[in-house]
Amino acid sequence: MVKTGNTIRESFLKYFEGKGHTRVTSSALIPKDDPTLMFTNSGMVQFKNAFLGLENRGYTKAASCQKCVRAGGKHNDLENVGVTARHHTFFEMLGNFSFGDYFKDDAIKWGWEYLTETVKLPKEKLWVTVFQDDDEAYNIWNKKMKVPADRIVRMGEKSNFWMMGETGPCGPCSEIIYDQGEGTGCGRPECDLDCGCDRYLEIWNLVFTQFNRDENGKLTPLPKPNIDTGMGLERLTAVIQGVNSNYDTDLFGDIIRFVEKISGKIYGKDKDNDTSIRVIADHSRAVTFLIGDGILPSNEGRGYVLRRILRRAARHGKLLGINKPFLYQCAEVVMNMMKDVYPDLKSKASFITKVIFNEEQRFMETLDAGLRILQEETAALKKAKKNVLPGALVFKLYDTFGFPTDLTADIVRRDGFTLDTAGFDAEMDQQRERARGAWKGSGEEAIAECYLKLSSSGIATDFCGYEGVTKADSKISAIFMDGKTIESLEEGQLAELIVEETPFYGESGGQVGDTGYLEGKGFIFAVQDTKKPVEKLFVHKGIVQKGKIKTGNKVHLIVDLEKRKAIQANHSGTHILQAALKAVLGDHIKQSGSLVNTERLRFDFSHFSKISDEELSRIEEIANEMIRRNIAVVTEVCALEDALKTGATAVFDEKYGQTVRIVKMGEMSMELCGGTHVQRTGDIGLLKILHESAIAAGVRRIEAVTGKQALIHVQQAEEELKKAAGLFKASPLELAERAEKLLKHTKELEKEIEALKGKLAAKDSGDLMSQIKEINGVKVLATEVNISDAKTLRDFGDKLRDKIESGIILLGSKAGEKAFLLCIVTKDLAGKYSAGNIIKELAPLVGGSGGGRPDMAQAGGTQPENLGKAIAALEKLLTK
Ligand code: ATP
Ligand code: MG
Repeated sequence: MVKTGNTIRESFLKYFEGKGHTRVTSSALIPKDDPTLMFTNSGMVQFKNAFLGLENRGYTKAASCQKCVRAGGKHNDLENVGVTARHHTFFEMLGNFSFGDYFKDDAIKWGWEYLTETVKLPKEKLWVTVFQDDDEAYNIWNKKMKVPADRIVRMGEKSNFWMMGETGPCGPCSEIIYDQGEGTGCGRPECDLDCGCDRYLEIWNLVFTQFNRDENGKLTPLPKPNIDTGMGLERLTAVIQGVNSNYDTDLFGDIIRFVEKISGKIYGKDKDNDTSIRVIADHSRAVTFLIGDGILPSNEGRGYVLRRILRRAARHGKLLGINKPFLYQCAEVVMNMMKDVYPDLKSKASFITKVIFNEEQRFMETLDAGLRILQEETAALKKAKKNVLPGALVFKLYDTFGFPTDLTADIVRRDGFTLDTAGFDAEMDQQRERARGAWKGSGEEAIAECYLKLSSSGIATDFCGYEGVTKADSKISAIFMDGKTIESLEEGQLAELIVEETPFYGESGGQVGDTGYLEGKGFIFAVQDTKKPVEKLFVHKGIVQKGKIKTGNKVHLIVDLEKRKAIQANHSGTHILQAALKAVLGDHIKQSGSLVNTERLRFDFSHFSKISDEELSRIEEIANEMIRRNIAVVTEVCALEDALKTGATAVFDEKYGQTVRIVKMGEMSMELCGGTHVQRTGDIGLLKILHESAIAAGVRRIEAVTGKQALIHVQQAEEELKKAAGLFKASPLELAERAEKLLKHTKELEKEIEALKGKLAAKDSGDLMSQIKEINGVKVLATEVNISDAKTLRDFGDKLRDKIESGIILLGSKAGEKAFLLCIVTKDLAGKYSAGNIIKELAPLVGGSGGGRPDMAQAGGTQPENLGKAIAALEKLLTK
C-alpha cells in the first residue's frame, strides 16, 4: 500500500498544523444544540457558532477529521450507496477552517499545495470549478496556481454557492475535481463535470463565506470572511491509492474481505453481489458509529434512520445467502480498523455489538416471511402487467414485517417496480385514526367527579411529610362516603377523610400511600391507604375504630413509621438502582415505570437484552457501595426548566408541574421526584436484587428488596441452603460439588439399569419361546410379562418379533392400577391378521381402548386383574 487511509488522514492534519491550524477532534454524530439537523454532515457543524461570531474558540484556524453521516434530513446519500463508487452513509470529512483569519488566497494555495506536493496528485488530472461571478477565485487558480484556463470551469449558484440557511452567512465555493479517466464512469463521449457518474470525482470543496444574506436576498460583504472546506477522506484515499472506487481502498479492505468470507462470494465477480457487499461494508461503518454515538434503533427520528440502515444491510446479507446475524461481526471488524483513530469505540464495543445483534435477530424473524409475501405479490402484479406496488401492501410490510418503505423500494427496484406512496400514507393515517379510536385513556382511573368538585370548591391539603416528618396536627375539612360528602361518622364506618395538612403521602409516582392513624377527641380513625386523586387533595381511606367523627374536628395524624421507613428505603433504593444500572449498562437506561411499597421495589426500564448474572451482581455491588458510603440525600425545589438544565433524570411521559423537586444522592444520582426518601443512603441498609425479566420488547424489570426485607431474604436463602446441605451431610460451600457428583452418579446408575433391563429382557425372551403355541398354523405367543413401562414393553416386543420370525405376539403387563396390552403381527402375516384389530377386540376386556397399525398396536386399561382373560381370549379370536 502506497499510503494507507490512516496515514493520509494524519498527513492532512499535520499539514494544516504546519500552517498554524489547531487540530480539533471530531464532534459526535448527534449535533449538539442543533435540533434542526439530523446528523453531523460536514466538518463545519461543530464550528457553526464560531462562524456566526457567537463563540470564541480561542483559535482562528482549525483543522479536523469529522465523522459525518448523510442518510437522513437534507443531505441523504442512502440511495446512492452501493450504486456509486463515491457515496457513503458514513464517511470522514477532512477540513480546514478560518474564523475571520485567512481567506481565498491561502485557502486555495494550501489546498493546491497539499494535493500536488504533499500527497503528489498529478496536476494534469486535476480540474477546478468556481462560482460564475467569482473572478477573484478564478484568477488565483489561473494566475497564481497556474491551472490552465481549460481546466477551470465556472458553475452556477446551484452547485457553487453555499448558504447556511435562507439568511445569514453565505458565499461562493470552489471544488477540486480529479479526472479518473475515460475508463471510469459512464464512458459517454459527452461526459463532463456535470455528469452524475464517477469519472470526474469531486474531492474537495472550498467554501468562501464572505457575505451575509438578508431577508430580501441582498448580499452584504462580511467584515471578516471565513473559510470552510471539506474533503472526503475515502475519495482522497482512492485517488492517492490509484483505485477508482472508495471500496477498493484499505479503508474498506478488511470489511469487504470479511463479508466475502462469511458469504462465500468473491468481490468483483458479479455485479449484484458487488452492490450487496458494498452496501454491507458501508452500512456496517454507519451503524457502528451511530450506535457508538448513542443512537438506538427505534421507530422515529434518528433511531429510525439507524434501523433502516441496519435492516437494509441485513437484507443485502440475505441476498448474499447469509442466513444468520452477521452485521455485529462486521461491526467488530470496523471497530478493529478504526479504534486507534476513535478510541472511544474500545469501551463501547460490547454495547455496540449487542445492540446490532439484537436488532438483526429481531428483523430475521420477519424478514423471510416479508420477502416471501413481496415475491408472491410482485409475481402476481407482473402477470397483470402492473408495476406499482399498492400502498396497502407496502404498509403491511412496514407494519407487520418491519420493512421500512425505502427497504421495500430497494428490493423491488431491480424488477422495475415503484411504490404507491400516497396509498401508503393513507394507510398510515388510517392506522393513526384507529389508534386514536382505540385509545382508552392512559390507564389511570378516571378522577371521580366528587373529588374534582371538592377541589374546585377550594378545599386542598398541604403535604408536610417530607424531611422525615410523620406527625402533624390538623383539622378535618371533609368526610366522604360512597362518593358523597357527609357531616359525621360513626364507629365501624368505612370512609375517606380530608384534612387541611397531612404528613401522609398520597399514592403517586410509583410510591404507595401511607397508612397510620388519625386521632381526635374521643375517636380513632385507622388509615388503610392514602390517595391523591387530584393535585393537592389527599384522601385518607380507612375505618372509624372508636368514637364519632365530625367535619371540623381537630385531629392528630400519625403515619405508621415502620412502614414509611420501609417504603422510603425502597424508594431511595430505586434511585440508587437506576444509577447503578446506568453505570453498568450505559446511559440509555430510562425508567418506564416503578412501584415502591413496604415489601419491595420494582423498576421497569428500557434495555434491549437480558442482563447477565455478572452484570446483575455488578449492579448490586455498585448499589450497595452507594449505600455504604452513607451519602446524604439532598432535595431541592426549583423551576422545571432549571431542573432539566442540570441534567436531572426525568421520567419520560411523566407530567411535571412548573416547580419540581430534585432528589440528589451525591454525584451518581439526580432525579426529578416527588416521593419521600431516606435521609442518608446508609438508612437503606442493604439492597438485594430478586429477579430480572422482560416485560415487553425492549423493556426489562428488576425487582429488589431493601433493609429488613433484604435481610429476611438473605436469611431465608441461607436457611434453604443449610437444609439442602444437611441432606447431603455437607457444608453449604460443598453443596454444589456434592450435588453435581450425585447427579452424575444417578446418571450412571440409570445407564446401568437400562443395560440390565436389556439383558434381562433378552434372557426372558429366550425363556418365553417355549410358550409358543401353534394356532391354525401360525406361531402365537400370548403371555403376561413383568415390565411396567410402555416403552420397555415395546422394545421387548421388538426383540420377540426378531426371535419368532413369523407369528403373532400378545403381551400384557401391569403397572400399578393400569394394564397394558401390546400386539405384534410379523410382516409376512399382515394380509391375514391385523394387530390393530386384535387390540380393538381385546382392549375392552381390561377396561380400556386402543389401536394402531396392522403390524403393531397397543392399548391401556384400568383393570389389570383381567389381563389373564384378555390374553386367553386371543386364542378364541384366532380360531373364530
Ligand atoms: P457529491 O456531489 O459528490 O455528492 P457534495 O457536493 O454533496 O458531493 P459536499 O457537501 O461539498 O459534497 O462535501 C464535501 C466533500 O465531502 C465532498 O467533496 C466529498 O469529498 C465528500 N463527500 C460528500 N458527500 C459524501 C458521501 N456521501 N460519501 C463520501 N464522501 C462524501
Ligand atoms: Mg452530495
